[in-house]
Amino acid sequence: MATIRIQTPFESWLRPDAAGLCCVPGGFHIDPARPVERAVVTHGHSDHARPGHNAVLATPETLAIMQTRLGDGAGRNRQALLYGAPLTIGDVTVTLRPAGHILGSAQIVIDYRGQRAVVTGDYKRRTDPTCAPFELVTCDLLVTEATFGLPVFRHEPDTREIARLLASLAAFPERTHQVGVYGLGKCQRLIALLRRAGYDRTIWLHGAMVQLCALYENLGVRLGDVRPVSAASTSLAGELVLSPPSALGDRWSRRLADPVTAFASGWMRVRGRARQRGVELPLIISDHVDWPEIIQTIDETAAGEIWVTHGREEAVVYQARKMGRRARALALIGREDEAE
Ligand SMILES: [Zn+2]
Ligand SMILES: [Zn+2]
Repeated sequence: MATIRIQTPFESWLRPDAAGLCCVPGGFHIDPARPVERAVVTHGHSDHARPGHNAVLATPETLAIMQTRLGDGAGRNRQALLYGAPLTIGDVTVTLRPAGHILGSAQIVIDYRGQRAVVTGDYKRRTDPTCAPFELVTCDLLVTEATFGLPVFRHEPDTREIARLLASLAAFPERTHQVGVYGLGKCQRLIALLRRAGYDRTIWLHGAMVQLCALYENLGVRLGDVRPVSAASTSLAGELVLSPPSALGDRWSRRLADPVTAFASGWMRVRGRARQRGVELPLIISDHVDWPEIIQTIDETAAGEIWVTHGREEAVVYQARKMGRRARALALIGREDEAE
């Protein structure tokens, strides 16, 4: 006699609540937006790694980033879990796999009664010299981010964007190049990509970048000669300065030599956004998957069910259904356009 196996709906054990995504049989939340008893944190960006949890489980790098950014708020009990090491929590097994997004970023793999869910957190599929590459995990349920979940978003190869920046540096030796970058991840990746392209001069940092760059160095990511702008004795003509995007065109930049303003972000695909910010040199460099990579990931994980969060949910849900998947949008609170 054939046995009929009744699948537990995923919602019975993994569900959104007021704090975020809750794994019920494991008794923890993933990237909770408010303080909880037990949090599993995918990576150190502030909309994922919030302060005030009692217990935090994450990769050692993410814990170090949280410690640097949040101090005492980084969680009362912190437990590090290495990539690939399974850990039993309550009735589930949790394994962290590289997400390729920033240093320490992890996908949360949860195995429960023969079903496997993968929560990607933010992720990208391209090589990034500052972090471990994305690892594909086949699963039954994929919870994917959708920051750039519209067909218009196709990120350029980063080598091309770096070459454009280097060409501009060569073309305007009397001006400073000021590149707006998100301070955690993008900043260090941009530096590493420039080093790979052979740029070996000092790279100058806005004060807000200094601490995280030092942390990356401590965690083994080589950035070469980086120094704070405050240590410069000139107006840095012909030099490269990295600053938060908010400092572009700001009073802070008056110390620089007629700066060429650049901005490294996936959002630079949208010309209006670049214009709005007065960006002369938009660089399409993103730490998130673009549209084709989201589709590729849905396809390759072979998940029958797709939950979409963190961005353009509707288009990805529509696309996943077209691919024969069950799909729904997860309206999690506290997730906005990432300042990436
Ligand atoms: Zn992120
Ligand atoms: Zn995010």
